[in-house]
Amino acid sequence: MKALVYDGPMDVKVKDVPDARIEKPTDVLVRITTTNICGSDLHMYEGRTDMETGRVLGHENLGEVIEVGQAVDRVKVGDLVCLPFNISCGFCENCERGLFSYCTTTNPEPRMAGAAYGFADMGPYSGGQAELLRVPYGDHNCLILPPEARDNQVDYVMLSDIFPTGWHSTELAGLLPGETIAIYGAGPVGLMATLSATIKGASKIMVVDRHPDRLALVEKLGGIPIDDSKGSPVDQILEHTDGLGAHRGAECVGYQAHDPQGHEHPNMTLNNLVNSVRFAGSMGVVGVFIPQDPGSPDDLYKRGEVAFDYGMFWFKGQSMGTGQCPVKRYNRKLLNLIREGKAKPSQIVSHELSLDQAPEGYAHFDKRDMGWTKVVLHPNG
Ligand code: NAD
Ligand code: ZN
Repeated sequence: MKALVYDGPMDVKVKDVPDARIEKPTDVLVRITTTNICGSDLHMYEGRTDMETGRVLGHENLGEVIEVGQAVDRVKVGDLVCLPFNISCGFCENCERGLFSYCTTTNPEPRMAGAAYGFADMGPYSGGQAELLRVPYGDHNCLILPPEARDNQVDYVMLSDIFPTGWHSTELAGLLPGETIAIYGAGPVGLMATLSATIKGASKIMVVDRHPDRLALVEKLGGIPIDDSKGSPVDQILEHTDGLGAHRGAECVGYQAHDPQGHEHPNMTLNNLVNSVRFAGSMGVVGVFIPQDPGSPDDLYKRGEVAFDYGMFWFKGQSMGTGQCPVKRYNRKLLNLIREGKAKPSQIVSHELSLDQAPEGYAHFDKRDMGWTKVVLHPNG
């Protein structure tokens, strides 16, 4: 089958690889029709992880079931399914608590939890930027879509990751109707946090970034764009909130954050968040930070230790939720919002490309080139 593989830093290629196939009786095999490039793929793409070359990327996947293992009885051949990026079992202690992002069955490494398709450190699973995808524990991991999704796959594919992840940031932050929220990052995840905050009835949604195309989408989704190239985002947010700061905050950037000069600096957003959120406020951090890699202690991006003013955080009595989104916890309800026309996450999509064009999509999305806000791939035409 054709697939997009990681070939080293800043290098992805479309290659012929062995077909994905049913390996266990609980597996489902999916012919991928729609799959996205995510900001999380860029961690691998930019070489900041220990991804081995030859791995197929892609964790935001949707397609048609073409074969099911002997032990699968809920999902049927012909079903159109969206796949949460987390690969989970449904029966471990964490899955029982709804923490599908910390499944202890599907990540085979000792002392690790949580698995995903085509992702460094999150199990050996192949990604879905390919013609075919093997889905472990298929009955549990397939979200069966309604018939009308066939003609609207670009909305429904967002249920695999970024819509639930944006929603999760507002859940971790404890956002309530009528409250204000400061969101750092207007990439796809920050934009989905903006959409979620709108749906939840936030009174003011202030979203920080510096790219005009992304800030324009903030406005379209009902947020107030805060351009951090025009001055301190904290000051701008304080001005919008009578000097108090927002009730809640969301971090949707991660360790590739830029500093005021536009240089990369991973501790920018956490300090800004602490200073933009009021006393006793709370925040959700879904931007990815990675653990320490002992092999490269001097590498800013592999250090794991990200400095932020913990003293101010403590003094203000704030709280913070972190981590990967347990997609499955939310996606049935978010599906209903799409189905009933109350959410249209595809609004942020700028490009729909074939698999052959994927390397070009990675290059533009990685540079945050103007107009490349979210890239969707169609591996089977
Ligand atoms: P992206 O890189 O396209 O978006 C990040 C945005 O943040 C960019 O527009 C960038 O200009 C902006 N930014 C950079 N520095 C900033 C700063 N100092 N202040 C404000 N904005 C700043 O990526 P994305 O797809 O939106 O993903 C964002 C993050 O979310 C990534 O770290 C990704 O890995 C992570 N993510 C996490 C989960 C999860 O489950 N927790 C799921 C999906 C993605
Ligand atoms: Zn993603």
